[in-house]
Amino acid sequence: MHKVHLYNTLSREKEEFTPLEEHKVRLYSCGPTVYNYPHIGNYRAYIFADTLKRVLAYSGYEVKHIMNLTDVDDKTIHNSQKEKKTLKEFTEFYTEEFFKDIASLNILPPTKFTKATDYVDEMVQIIKKLLENRLAYKSDDGSIYFDIRKFPNYGKLSGMVLERQKENASGRIISDEYDKENAQDFALWKAWDEKDGEVFWDTEFGRGRPGWHIECSAMSMKLLGEQIDIHTGGIDLIFPHHENEIAQSEGVTGKQFVKYWAHNEWLLVDGKKMAKSANNFFTLKDITDRGISPVVYRFWLLMASYRTRVNFVWDALEGAETALKRLYGLYTALGTATPPGTGQAGSVHEIYQQKFTEFVTDDLDTPRALTLLWDVIKDGNMSDADKKATILDFDKVLGLGFADLKEEIVPEEVLKLVEERKTAREEKDFTKSDELRAKINEL
Ligand code: AMP
Ligand code: ZN
Repeated sequence: MHKVHLYNTLSREKEEFTPLEEHKVRLYSCGPTVYNYPHIGNYRAYIFADTLKRVLAYSGYEVKHIMNLTDVDDKTIHNSQKEKKTLKEFTEFYTEEFFKDIASLNILPPTKFTKATDYVDEMVQIIKKLLENRLAYKSDDGSIYFDIRKFPNYGKLSGMVLERQKENASGRIISDEYDKENAQDFALWKAWDEKDGEVFWDTEFGRGRPGWHIECSAMSMKLLGEQIDIHTGGIDLIFPHHENEIAQSEGVTGKQFVKYWAHNEWLLVDGKKMAKSANNFFTLKDITDRGISPVVYRFWLLMASYRTRVNFVWDALEGAETALKRLYGLYTALGTATPPGTGQAGSVHEIYQQKFTEFVTDDLDTPRALTLLWDVIKDGNMSDADKKATILDFDKVLGLGFADLKEEIVPEEVLKLVEERKTAREEKDFTKSDELRAKINEL
């Protein structure tokens, strides 16, 4: 068991991780809203959660990881209606697409994916308790709201809302997403109206559907218990989504809901957050359409800390592609010195492993871990077999797919072309570089 240090949004400090239960981690990640193809900024959130999980497992923890699929909310309802599909039909399509995408990014599936629509009963029970505890109230139309003034800790995660909370204390918000300017009572249960069409549940509160925030509280508490170790999401979920999750869950149990809140920073384009609404986004298909493997995107992200903003430019991704291909080439050129079952398998280099562990458990310092990977591959004093074993060990965390590379030596010709392309790029001869890439891919 190795100590892990993690930045906690709640304390705004890097903390030593101590689990609620020895050797075990209960991890919850806010998953996708399945209403469209996610953009690659969204995938930053899932690559981060995956890397965190891999680091925890690498450090010796048994990780129970839940990721939800938001298959009912304002966006899914609205978009399914536009396409004239049932909500189920519509969300199942994007769920399948999501599964394919994450597999292509070497994101390991969580212990369980949970669909919000499977947990409406649990949501109703939570809302019932919140009404009993007088933290929630019914409005005239039958919708139920959380009363943020009744929850003294409201704002403890995001830290900035208390003043505004007073200013807007009488305000109420029914839509699922709203910004910092609007710390308001938020909807737990939305009474049915025409816009919802066929989407409703008949419950003791009447006909309606849950709000978005209650979904994660319900699934997290049902699958992982009233208290969990780590909850992840992108930084934009801190407020209001995660703040509201805390209010709902702690409002029911009176116990601390989450010990460590972990958030990834934004993927930017031209200095602005990549977002569907800003229409400045790329999808994984845009990447593969250029002949670039999705794993390259993962590799590129790992070159930066998850807590720094990174600006997406194609040139940088192509640079990462060249580097990763070089790594793959050098790895496969290590040959087949470790045929399984011969007893000659290499062993993981202890000192490198120690350093690697130290880096990745230091708030997921993947940039330093990658530098170490290059050190290993270039180390003149290590046997090929040991290098391979060490790289495969690192790859448990990095997820770059070394184990899947075919055990064959990359032809000299390809390595030469890769070098030539590097030079072409350095000389900014992009036409030549594109031609060379096509040739390399062909080979
Ligand atoms: P959504 O489907 O909108 O709930 O978003 C899914 C995940 O992507 C959430 O964890 C968001 O915080 C995250 N996310 C959205 N946009 C970005 C971005 N530009 N960079 C990094 N993460 C993002
Ligand atoms: Zn969530």
